[in-house]
Amino acid sequence: MVDKKKTILIVDDTEINIDILLDLLGDDYDVSVALDGENALEIANEEPLDLILLDIMMPKMDGYEVCRLLKTNDNTKDIPVIFITAKTDEDSIETAYEVGGVDYVTKPFKPRELIARVKTQLNMKLLIENLEFIASHDQMTGIYNRRKFFELAEKKFLQKQDNLYVAMMDIDKFKLINDTYGHPTGDLVIKAITKTISGFIESESIFGRLGGEEFAIMCNHESLEDTLKNIERIRSMVERCEVIAENKEIIKCTISTGCTKMTKETLNLDSLVKEADLALYEAKGSGRNKSIFR
Ligand code: GH3
Ligand code: MG
Ligand code: MG
Repeated sequence: MVDKKKTILIVDDTEINIDILLDLLGDDYDVSVALDGENALEIANEEPLDLILLDIMMPKMDGYEVCRLLKTNDNTKDIPVIFITAKTDEDSIETAYEVGGVDYVTKPFKPRELIARVKTQLNMKLLIENLEFIASHDQMTGIYNRRKFFELAEKKFLQKQDNLYVAMMDIDKFKLINDTYGHPTGDLVIKAITKTISGFIESESIFGRLGGEEFAIMCNHESLEDTLKNIERIRSMVERCEVIAENKEIIKCTISTGCTKMTKETLNLDSLVKEADLALYEAKGSGRNKSIFR
């Protein structure tokens, strides 16, 4: 597979400067151009960018202001900005880093040095993205880990949307599966169940592995009925899911679910999750392979 070209936005009010940079970068990168700060912000907000090369002296909005605004917007705050400018005094350089720039190149620049700096920042961005993925996803199943689930759930909780539900799910008698077939086969079962549940998770919902054989979903649905229907669908699909053990035996298992809804009385995310946990406890205590709402 051919790697997709990285995207770079060049922002400069002088066309000759843009032409020089286009000549230098146009073959290896997907380059967009903006002649002023406002246009740069628009493009950055709409197009996925890997890097911005930003002039400082521009009419109306200067490069510092553009960078400040980029850094206050969730959509654009992670795009690295390299300033390219004729200003060489120390105050200007210091300000460039203070407003969030990652590098600073003075004009006239040395072409190969500029390309090396661009490559360095693109590599750095990739590295950060990889580390962020590892830090937020469960390695075995690929879904959100506990930390990321609670981070995203907290954000959603604070938006105080109506019809917000939390469901806690736990595989039934999972210890028996480990004891019977061994830990590696237990892992296969966790992965298979995760995949089955994932098929029923809407794109706006948050689905994470909280630990061991326990999962959580935060979702919005029109009604309680819709939510319970979805949870019931998941329960019955898991019940039908089959994993083949090494000895060719077919392993089947079930899940129990505790579900709750955010109300005006819900104090915080912790109490919402606790309520769902209590419902899960009830489901376990009253026979397993069932869903309880409270
Ligand atoms: P219950 O129906 O009450 O939930 O019973 P259970 O056996 O599922 O619950 P218990 O908490 O007693 O056991 C959970 C087991 O899950 C114990 C632990 O060794 C196992 N486990 C936790 N994480 C993993 C994992 O990543 N892989 C495997 N194979 N097993 C795991
Ligand atoms: Mg200029
Ligand atoms: Mg269990």
